[in-house]
Amino acid sequence: MWSWRAGALLRGWGRRLAGAPGRRLLSCNAASQAGSSAPRCWKCGSPGAPARGHGLFCPQCRALQPPDPTRDYFSLMDCNHSFRIDTIKLQNRYQQLQRLVHPDFFSQRSQIEKELSEKHSTLVNDAYKTLLAPLSRGLYLLRLHGIEIPEGTHYEMDDQFLMEIMEINEKLAEAQNEAAIEEIESTVRAKQNEFTEHVSKAFEQDDFEKAKEILTKMRYFSNVQEKIKLKKTPL
Ligand SMILES: [Zn+2]
Repeated sequence: MWSWRAGALLRGWGRRLAGAPGRRLLSCNAASQAGSSAPRCWKCGSPGAPARGHGLFCPQCRALQPPDPTRDYFSLMDCNHSFRIDTIKLQNRYQQLQRLVHPDFFSQRSQIEKELSEKHSTLVNDAYKTLLAPLSRGLYLLRLHGIEIPEGTHYEMDDQFLMEIMEINEKLAEAQNEAAIEEIESTVRAKQNEFTEHVSKAFEQDDFEKAKEILTKMRYFSNVQEKIKLKKTPL
C-alpha cells in the first residue's frame, strides 16, 4: 500500500506545495503572522475572504477562492494535530467539503472556478485518504514535525524484525490456498493494529523517534499487505 498509494499522495502533496516552503506547513499562525497581507478575492477584490466561514468562498461575491497553502491536512479536515483522530468526524468533514467544492457543482461557473474546484476536490481527497489510514497519517504527522522516512529506509531495523518479515514473505510465497493466505493476512492485520496502538502512544508522548521506528515497521507490514492483496486477486 505504501509503495504506490501513500507515495503518490506524498508526491502529489509535494508538488502542490512546491511553491510553499515546508516550514510554513507547521505554523498555522504563519498566515496571521504574515498579517496584513491577507489574500483578497481574485474576482471582486474583497479583502479577508479566507478568514471567514470555511474560507472557501468570498463572503461578498461567493466566488470559490484558491486553496490556502499554509493550511495542512489536519486543519483542512478540522482534526486536532494528533495521531488519534475521530474517523467518523473525518468522514463527515470530507463529505461536507466535497458537497461544497466538488467539480460537479461548478459546471455552470467560470473556467477559473472550475479549475479551483478541481484543485480543492483533489486536495480534500488527498487529505482524507492520508488522514484515514494510520500509516499515512503517522508519516504525515511526522513530516509536519520535520521528520521524513525516505522510501527504502532500513532505519536500524533489528535483525529479529527483518527475520520476521522475511519469514512472513516466505510463508506468503509458499501459500498454496486461500486459507493459508488468510491466516497470514490476519497475523499481519493483528500486527498492524498492535503497531497502531504503539505509535499512537509514542505520538502522545511526543516521542517522535519511537514513532518513526514503529512507522517504519508498519511500512514493511504494509508492503506485505500489498503482496497479499496481489496474491488474492491473480491477474
Ligand atoms: Zn469576491
